[in-house]
Amino acid sequence: MISKKINDAINAQINREFWSGYLYLSMANNFETLGRKGVANWFRIQFKEEFAHAQIFMNYLNSRGGKVELAPIDGVPSEWKTPLEAFSATLAHERTVTKCINDLYALAEEEHDFATRHMLNWFVAEQVEEEDNAQELIDNFELVGNDGTGIYQLDAKLGTRTYVAPAILNE
Ligand code: MG
Repeated sequence: MISKKINDAINAQINREFWSGYLYLSMANNFETLGRKGVANWFRIQFKEEFAHAQIFMNYLNSRGGKVELAPIDGVPSEWKTPLEAFSATLAHERTVTKCINDLYALAEEEHDFATRHMLNWFVAEQVEEEDNAQELIDNFELVGNDGTGIYQLDAKLGTRTYVAPAILNE
């Protein structure tokens, strides 16, 4: 059984994961429109990952006898002029998500809910990767600047990204 306090905090995090998915889906559509199909592909996969994160939390709540309550998902912005602008927004957003995961971790410790703390270790590691990926893309797009060939090549590279469901979902 899981405490109401932890249950509520996880439901809030589920909503944030869905909101993250919305944000990246909006970015994907934005870059489809701008003809940056590789960048759009990268964000579409990011969207799937975020929905998978929500699924992991939902599975966890269900396995602990908790109650999933899905709140409305807030709207998201819809316009980013360049990949650099979108990846900078991605990094800023992922940093706030990291803070939320850390706060949830601290709450689990405070409540002596060690099962939740254990589950959150996966997300702690995932956030390191999310921030690192966004930073790498910022560095790459800063490096090429306005060089058309460089942008074309980066876009082509991001177009090769494929979605792999997190292994934890199959456990
Ligand atoms: Mg996430």
